[in-house]
Amino acid sequence: MTSVQNDVIRDVIVVGSGPAGYTAAIYTARANLNPLVIAGSVTAGGELMNTTDVENFPGFPEGIMGPDLMDNMQKQAERFGAEILFDDVTEMNLDGDIKTVSLADGTVFRARSIIVSTGSAYRELGLEDEKRLSGHGVSWCATCDGFFFREQTIAVIGGGDSAMEEALFLTKFASKVYVIVRRNELRASKIMGDRALAHEKIEFVWDSEVVGINGDEKVNGLVVKNRISAEETTLDVTGVFVAIGNDPRVDLVKDQLELTAEGTIAVDGRSSKTSLPGVFAAGDVIDSTYRQAITAAASGCAAAQDVEHFLANVKTPAEAAK
Ligand SMILES: Cc1cc2nc3c(=O)[nH]c(=O)nc-3n(C[C@H](O)[C@H](O)[C@H](O)COP(=O)(O)OP(=O)(O)OC[C@H]3O[C@@H](n4cnc5c(N)ncnc54)[C@H](O)[C@@H]3O)c2cc1C
Repeated sequence: MTSVQNDVIRDVIVVGSGPAGYTAAIYTARANLNPLVIAGSVTAGGELMNTTDVENFPGFPEGIMGPDLMDNMQKQAERFGAEILFDDVTEMNLDGDIKTVSLADGTVFRARSIIVSTGSAYRELGLEDEKRLSGHGVSWCATCDGFFFREQTIAVIGGGDSAMEEALFLTKFASKVYVIVRRNELRASKIMGDRALAHEKIEFVWDSEVVGINGDEKVNGLVVKNRISAEETTLDVTGVFVAIGNDPRVDLVKDQLELTAEGTIAVDGRSSKTSLPGVFAAGDVIDSTYRQAITAAASGCAAAQDVEHFLANVKTPAEAAK
């Protein structure tokens, strides 16, 4: 049983501790809403815990390490009184005036409002060295990391629109971009595919799958296997961008909240309001386009303000005065 008090009805529970969750916690804590953040256990801090330098989060002219940035956000939320519980939510009941959030040990928390900020997961290749070299040459985000690969030879894995977009974007920095495709055709739209096929810096490696990523401290090669001839080739690359898809983490809510065609939680316009009153969503779990720390943080801020307005209307005057 957790030591965090669970016999009260809280104003707000934030599920997730990435940039969206911690920003929502900072804002709701500063609005005296005493948020409880259920941060996740091994995934606490979110995706930036898996990276090294973050150079595009404003306010850090020299850049900051991803885990340090998240540590700062956690401390900032705690400074204003947010309670943070490093555990996983296993079930949520979002209907009705009082929502419940459960942990695996049976503890149930209750709140008038919930902010879901569970992020999204980039699909992985499933190779042994992929995680180890994440942030050391292996990336899932060209916008985030392309700049680190100036004048280098790199590879993009995938044959869909996002792989083509990443490859084309990376030609601005890299001297050469291999695109590794499992089949002998692209899944990407014709216009994106044609653009990539015509680019002088891009070379396609067809009918191939990645079987290994080489490098001790940093990536220094990519082993690809031709699916027809079974021949293995090592490409001399220093960067590998995995672009085989992204799944919003909606398992806990997919039967209760409306989702978009992309699988993100549907929200009302620019707000964080979901299809259920009192339930708000923020960050990459509502975003299939931008997926950056700063956009997730902004979205967490919007959710916190939406919660404030919501609570102002549902609380009795006596409760609101407390
Ligand atoms: C390797 C890598 C490098 C990146 N580099 C950059 C960069 O340099 N700059 C940049 O702007 N962006 C970068 N990004 C993108 C950025 O990390 C994301 O856009 C951002 O983290 C999204 O924030 P979020 O709060 O929506 O979700 P996340 O950061 O994904 O956080 C999700 C949170 O939900 C929690 N959670 C999930 N399920 C549960 C559950 N059942 N119970 C409790 N908690 C749960 C997790 O523990 C986690 O705390 C990078 C992404 C990756 C993968």
